[in-house]
Amino acid sequence: MIAVSKEERARELYDVIRACRMCALAETRTHAVPGEGPLDAEVMFIGEAPGLNEDRQGRPFVGAAGQFLSELIAEAGLRREEVYICNVLKCRPPGNRDPLPGEIEACAEYLDLQIDLVDPLVIVTLGRFSMARWFPQQTISRIHGRPKEVDGRLIVPMYHPAAALHQGALRQVLIDDFRGLRDILARARAGLTAPAAPAAETAAGEPPAATSSKPSPAPQPAASAPPSPAPAAAPGGGAGAAPAGPQQIPLFE
Ligand code: SF4
Repeated sequence: MIAVSKEERARELYDVIRACRMCALAETRTHAVPGEGPLDAEVMFIGEAPGLNEDRQGRPFVGAAGQFLSELIAEAGLRREEVYICNVLKCRPPGNRDPLPGEIEACAEYLDLQIDLVDPLVIVTLGRFSMARWFPQQTISRIHGRPKEVDGRLIVPMYHPAAALHQGALRQVLIDDFRGLRDILARARAGLTAPAAPAAETAAGEPPAATSSKPSPAPQPAASAPPSPAPAAAPGGGAGAAPAGPQQIPLFE
Protein backbone atom coordinates (compact mmCIF):
# COMPACT_ATOMS: atom_id res chain seq x y z
CA MET A 1 0.00 0.00 0.00
CA ILE A 2 1.29 3.44 -0.85
CA ALA A 3 1.54 5.77 2.10
CA VAL A 4 -0.25 9.04 1.57
CA SER A 5 1.24 12.07 3.24
CA LYS A 6 -0.73 14.53 5.31
CA GLU A 7 -0.05 17.17 2.71
CA GLU A 8 -1.52 15.02 -0.03
CA ARG A 9 -4.58 14.22 2.05
CA ALA A 10 -5.07 17.89 2.81
CA ARG A 11 -4.67 18.90 -0.79
CA GLU A 12 -7.23 16.34 -1.84
CA LEU A 13 -9.65 17.40 0.87
CA TYR A 14 -9.30 21.07 -0.04
CA ASP A 15 -9.95 20.25 -3.69
CA VAL A 16 -13.09 18.35 -2.74
CA ILE A 17 -14.31 21.24 -0.60
CA ARG A 18 -13.66 23.80 -3.35
CA ALA A 19 -15.75 21.73 -5.75
CA CYS A 20 -18.44 20.80 -3.23
CA ARG A 21 -22.08 21.43 -4.08
CA MET A 22 -23.70 19.54 -1.27
CA CYS A 23 -25.71 22.48 0.01
CA ALA A 24 -27.25 25.58 -1.47
CA LEU A 25 -24.37 27.81 -0.38
CA ALA A 26 -22.48 26.55 -3.41
CA GLU A 27 -24.82 28.67 -5.52
CA THR A 28 -23.90 31.95 -3.87
CA ARG A 29 -20.28 31.58 -2.83
CA THR A 30 -17.39 33.11 -4.73
CA HIS A 31 -14.80 30.81 -3.21
CA ALA A 32 -15.12 27.99 -0.75
CA VAL A 33 -12.79 28.46 2.21
CA PRO A 34 -11.37 25.13 3.37
CA GLY A 35 -9.02 26.49 6.04
CA GLU A 36 -5.30 26.94 6.41
CA GLY A 37 -2.38 26.31 8.68
CA PRO A 38 0.25 23.72 9.39
CA LEU A 39 -1.01 20.15 9.45
CA ASP A 40 0.88 19.47 12.67
CA ALA A 41 -0.51 22.49 14.52
CA GLU A 42 -1.02 22.08 18.26
CA VAL A 43 -3.97 24.47 18.26
CA MET A 44 -6.93 24.57 15.88
CA PHE A 45 -9.34 27.50 15.79
CA ILE A 46 -12.83 26.85 14.43
CA GLY A 47 -15.02 29.79 13.53
CA GLU A 48 -18.50 29.96 12.10
CA ALA A 49 -18.40 30.61 8.35
CA PRO A 50 -16.58 32.77 5.81
CA GLY A 51 -17.59 36.41 5.57
CA LEU A 52 -17.38 38.79 2.64
CA ASN A 53 -13.59 39.13 2.57
CA GLU A 54 -13.03 35.43 3.14
CA ASP A 55 -15.43 34.58 0.32
CA ARG A 56 -13.50 36.88 -2.00
CA GLN A 57 -10.06 35.60 -1.06
CA GLY A 58 -10.76 31.96 -0.28
CA ARG A 59 -8.93 32.26 3.05
CA PRO A 60 -10.28 32.19 6.60
CA PHE A 61 -10.32 35.19 8.95
CA VAL A 62 -8.84 37.83 6.65
CA GLY A 63 -11.16 40.74 7.51
CA ALA A 64 -11.32 42.92 10.62
CA ALA A 65 -12.25 39.97 12.82
CA GLY A 66 -9.31 38.08 11.37
CA GLN A 67 -6.95 40.89 12.20
CA PHE A 68 -8.20 40.85 15.78
CA LEU A 69 -7.85 37.07 15.85
CA SER A 70 -4.19 37.43 14.89
CA GLU A 71 -3.72 39.83 17.81
CA LEU A 72 -5.47 37.39 20.13
CA ILE A 73 -3.30 34.52 18.96
CA ALA A 74 -0.29 36.62 19.88
CA GLU A 75 -1.79 37.14 23.35
CA ALA A 76 -1.76 33.36 23.66
CA GLY A 77 1.96 33.35 22.94
CA LEU A 78 1.49 31.89 19.48
CA ARG A 79 1.98 33.04 15.92
CA ARG A 80 -0.78 32.82 13.37
CA GLU A 81 1.50 30.81 11.08
CA GLU A 82 1.74 28.02 13.65
CA VAL A 83 -1.99 27.45 14.26
CA TYR A 84 -4.67 25.92 12.07
CA ILE A 85 -7.74 28.02 11.29
CA CYS A 86 -10.99 26.92 9.69
CA ASN A 87 -14.75 27.26 10.01
CA VAL A 88 -17.81 25.11 10.61
CA LEU A 89 -19.11 26.07 7.16
CA LYS A 90 -16.75 26.33 4.24
CA CYS A 91 -18.97 28.64 2.18
CA ARG A 92 -20.39 32.05 3.01
CA PRO A 93 -24.05 32.30 3.92
CA PRO A 94 -25.59 35.19 1.96
CA GLY A 95 -25.51 38.42 3.91
CA ASN A 96 -23.55 36.69 6.67
CA ARG A 97 -26.75 35.19 8.05
CA ASP A 98 -26.53 32.41 10.61
CA PRO A 99 -25.77 28.94 9.28
CA LEU A 100 -28.79 26.70 8.83
CA PRO A 101 -28.93 23.28 10.50
CA GLY A 102 -28.95 21.51 7.15
CA GLU A 103 -25.86 23.42 6.02
CA ILE A 104 -23.99 22.51 9.17
CA GLU A 105 -25.03 18.91 8.71
CA ALA A 106 -23.92 18.84 5.09
CA CYS A 107 -20.53 20.37 5.87
CA ALA A 108 -19.78 18.54 9.14
CA GLU A 109 -17.71 15.73 7.75
CA TYR A 110 -15.20 18.10 6.20
CA LEU A 111 -14.49 19.46 9.66
CA ASP A 112 -14.27 15.92 11.04
CA LEU A 113 -11.64 15.13 8.43
CA GLN A 114 -9.68 18.28 9.20
CA ILE A 115 -9.63 17.48 12.90
CA ASP A 116 -8.49 13.94 12.19
CA LEU A 117 -5.82 15.20 9.84
CA VAL A 118 -4.34 17.89 12.07
CA ASP A 119 -5.05 16.06 15.33
CA PRO A 120 -4.47 19.15 17.49
CA LEU A 121 -3.90 19.10 21.24
CA VAL A 122 -6.31 21.97 21.73
CA ILE A 123 -9.35 23.09 19.76
CA VAL A 124 -10.63 26.61 20.31
CA THR A 125 -14.20 27.18 19.22
CA LEU A 126 -15.02 30.74 18.16
CA GLY A 127 -18.66 31.62 18.59
CA ARG A 128 -21.77 29.63 19.35
CA PHE A 129 -22.12 27.58 16.17
CA SER A 130 -18.68 26.13 16.63
CA MET A 131 -19.16 25.78 20.38
CA ALA A 132 -22.43 23.83 20.01
CA ARG A 133 -20.59 20.90 18.52
CA TRP A 134 -18.97 20.08 21.87
CA PHE A 135 -21.01 22.14 24.33
CA PRO A 136 -24.67 21.53 23.56
CA GLN A 137 -27.14 23.31 25.80
CA GLN A 138 -24.48 25.72 27.02
CA THR A 139 -24.21 29.47 26.74
CA ILE A 140 -20.96 31.13 25.82
CA SER A 141 -21.29 33.75 28.56
CA ARG A 142 -21.13 30.98 31.17
CA ILE A 143 -18.35 28.81 29.88
CA HIS A 144 -16.05 30.96 27.75
CA GLY A 145 -12.38 30.29 28.34
CA ARG A 146 -13.00 27.06 30.26
CA PRO A 147 -11.70 23.89 28.65
CA LYS A 148 -13.35 20.52 28.48
CA GLU A 149 -11.41 17.34 27.88
CA VAL A 150 -12.69 15.16 25.08
CA ASP A 151 -10.73 12.00 24.41
CA GLY A 152 -7.36 13.41 25.28
CA ARG A 153 -7.91 16.76 23.66
CA LEU A 154 -8.93 20.05 25.25
CA ILE A 155 -11.80 21.96 23.71
CA VAL A 156 -11.95 25.63 24.71
CA PRO A 157 -15.02 27.74 23.95
CA MET A 158 -14.35 31.39 23.17
CA TYR A 159 -16.38 34.29 21.91
CA HIS A 160 -16.06 34.96 18.20
CA PRO A 161 -13.60 37.83 17.59
CA ALA A 162 -16.27 39.60 15.55
CA ALA A 163 -18.40 39.86 18.69
CA ALA A 164 -15.85 42.27 20.15
CA LEU A 165 -16.12 44.48 17.08
CA HIS A 166 -19.79 45.02 17.92
CA GLN A 167 -19.58 44.88 21.72
CA GLY A 168 -16.50 46.66 22.95
CA ALA A 169 -16.77 45.16 26.42
CA LEU A 170 -16.02 41.73 25.00
CA ARG A 171 -12.64 42.82 23.73
CA GLN A 172 -10.94 42.51 27.10
CA VAL A 173 -12.83 39.28 27.83
CA LEU A 174 -11.39 37.76 24.67
CA ILE A 175 -7.90 39.03 25.46
CA ASP A 176 -8.06 37.51 28.93
CA ASP A 177 -9.37 34.20 27.61
CA PHE A 178 -6.65 34.00 24.99
CA ARG A 179 -4.01 34.77 27.60
CA GLY A 180 -5.41 31.80 29.51
CA LEU A 181 -4.75 29.65 26.50
CA ARG A 182 -1.06 29.66 27.41
CA ASP A 183 -1.73 27.60 30.54
CA ILE A 184 -4.26 25.42 28.79
CA LEU A 185 -1.79 24.54 26.08
CA ALA A 186 0.90 23.86 28.67
CA ARG A 187 -1.49 21.45 30.39
CA ALA A 188 -2.27 19.75 27.13
CA ARG A 189 1.42 19.38 26.32
CA ALA A 190 1.98 17.88 29.75
CA GLY A 191 -0.56 15.18 29.12
CA LEU A 192 -3.86 16.40 30.44
CA THR A 193 -3.63 15.50 34.07
CA ALA A 194 -7.16 16.47 34.68
CA PRO A 195 -8.70 16.35 38.11
CA ALA A 196 -11.28 13.73 38.72
CA ALA A 197 -14.72 14.31 37.61
CA PRO A 198 -16.46 17.25 39.03
CA ALA A 199 -20.13 17.82 38.68
CA ALA A 200 -21.06 18.97 35.26
CA GLU A 201 -22.16 22.50 35.00
CA THR A 202 -25.75 22.90 34.27
CA ALA A 203 -26.81 25.69 32.10
CA ALA A 204 -30.03 26.79 30.91
CA GLY A 205 -29.65 28.67 27.86
CA GLU A 206 -30.11 29.59 24.39
CA PRO A 207 -30.92 26.78 22.04
CA PRO A 208 -27.77 25.39 20.57
CA ALA A 209 -27.12 25.35 16.92
CA ALA A 210 -28.23 22.06 15.55
CA THR A 211 -25.44 19.80 14.59
CA SER A 212 -25.04 16.15 14.30
CA SER A 213 -21.34 16.13 14.58
CA LYS A 214 -19.67 13.66 16.72
CA PRO A 215 -18.20 15.12 19.86
CA SER A 216 -14.87 13.51 19.45
CA PRO A 217 -13.25 12.44 16.28
CA ALA A 218 -11.92 9.00 15.88
CA PRO A 219 -8.93 8.34 13.72
CA GLN A 220 -9.94 8.01 10.14
CA PRO A 221 -8.30 7.15 6.93
CA ALA A 222 -7.17 9.68 4.44
CA ALA A 223 -9.55 12.05 2.87
CA SER A 224 -9.18 10.24 -0.35
CA ALA A 225 -12.70 10.63 -1.52
CA PRO A 226 -15.43 13.13 -1.13
CA PRO A 227 -17.10 12.60 2.18
CA SER A 228 -20.61 11.48 2.01
CA PRO A 229 -22.44 13.46 4.58
CA ALA A 230 -26.07 12.88 5.00
CA PRO A 231 -28.05 14.85 2.55
CA ALA A 232 -28.80 18.29 3.74
CA ALA A 233 -30.86 17.33 6.61
CA ALA A 234 -34.17 18.51 7.68
CA PRO A 235 -33.74 21.35 10.07
CA GLY A 236 -33.69 20.26 13.61
CA GLY A 237 -33.43 16.66 12.79
CA GLY A 238 -30.97 14.55 11.44
CA ALA A 239 -28.45 12.24 12.09
CA GLY A 240 -27.86 12.04 15.39
CA ALA A 241 -28.95 13.74 18.28
CA ALA A 242 -26.02 14.92 20.16
CA PRO A 243 -24.70 12.10 22.19
CA ALA A 244 -24.35 12.46 25.86
CA GLY A 245 -21.43 14.79 26.10
CA PRO A 246 -18.22 13.94 27.76
CA GLN A 247 -17.92 15.05 31.29
CA GLN A 248 -17.05 18.66 31.77
CA ILE A 249 -13.74 19.10 33.44
CA PRO A 250 -13.23 22.66 34.56
CA LEU A 251 -9.48 22.65 34.72
CA PHE A 252 -9.43 26.37 35.07
CA GLU A 253 -11.88 28.71 36.63
S1 SF4 B 1 -21.48 21.42 2.28
FE1 SF4 B 1 -19.92 22.94 2.96
S2 SF4 B 1 -18.40 22.99 1.32
FE2 SF4 B 1 -20.24 22.00 0.48
S3 SF4 B 1 -21.40 23.67 -0.50
FE3 SF4 B 1 -22.20 23.48 1.60
S4 SF4 B 1 -20.97 24.92 2.87
FE4 SF4 B 1 -19.90 24.62 0.90
